[in-house]
Amino acid sequence: MKQRVVLVTTGGTIAMVTDPVTRASIPAPGLNKHVANVEGLKEVALVEHHEFSNIPSPYINPETMWNLSKRVQGLLDREEVCGVVITHGTDTLEETAYFLDLTIRSEKPVICTAAMRNIDEMGTDGPRNVLSSVRVAVNPLAVGMGTMVCLNDEIHAAREVTKTYTSNVATFDSPGHGPLGIVDEDSVIFFRKPLLRAVFNVDKIEPKVALVKTFTGDDGSILRILPELGFRGLVLETFGRGNVPVEVYHVVKYLIRAKEFPVIITSRCFKGRVLGVYGYVGGGKSLADLGAIFAQELSSIKARIKLIVIMGITSEMAEIERLFKLPLKGA
Ligand code: ASP
Repeated sequence: MKQRVVLVTTGGTIAMVTDPVTRASIPAPGLNKHVANVEGLKEVALVEHHEFSNIPSPYINPETMWNLSKRVQGLLDREEVCGVVITHGTDTLEETAYFLDLTIRSEKPVICTAAMRNIDEMGTDGPRNVLSSVRVAVNPLAVGMGTMVCLNDEIHAAREVTKTYTSNVATFDSPGHGPLGIVDEDSVIFFRKPLLRAVFNVDKIEPKVALVKTFTGDDGSILRILPELGFRGLVLETFGRGNVPVEVYHVVKYLIRAKEFPVIITSRCFKGRVLGVYGYVGGGKSLADLGAIFAQELSSIKARIKLIVIMGITSEMAEIERLFKLPLKGA
């Protein structure tokens, strides 16, 4: 008996065609259905299609992710469903995938996939990616792996994966980590498990979290106005190990001390951890002494998603810090 997998389609290039007049890629009504009818799918699983949306992924926002998470949770709670595959635009796929990884409470796998090429382009990658993702969903070793991203026959952990190439089908990678496994023809091969997953029990989120990248000569003026703009928290992408210009240090101090604003420190380097090893004013240690929270090797994009989820649970600084540092399942 074939296992049941639910395919949830949200849109993206995988459900786009080339406009004959403008030659630009546009969402096409009915194409999500086409995605669900990929050749060979029936031999692998009993696939049930649910259309969630048909939008480009730059239109996805934290509320959309939250609604998707609740929808997927409901599907996984059905006993006969063994896993869920989600199609999504590649641009923001890693954000949605990590949001789902943090919020879905189930041992059953969730696999996010996409395409870099429209359905009508030569060498379109969507159908193959859907088929490979369904293969992952029915594989017993996928149980307990959380949310994964499967494209170009590689399987990546939601926490680690990022889009690295604007145009190439081999765009998704996990810098500093590597893939969890691969799909090789009809075999699914896992190399390792994602050990640093955290899962939170949330009933709301806080979407007003800003992500700002510091730069040489930054005087902190952009950061200073964040509370006035209605933001409630900040991910600050810093230099190297977690260092900022001295003027930015003073604004971080103002945000934390005067505004009780959580500030998460990440790095513009895409490999390695941030850590307070520099003691000069603006060095990572000076930021840590202020109470800034260091995001380990989490990317800025992922750190923002984690803060959005955690601030739905608490706005208390010490508790935000405790939850942010949680690497383990079941929190
Ligand atoms: N702009 C598209 C999107 O993210 C890109 C893609 O799907 O590859 O919706």
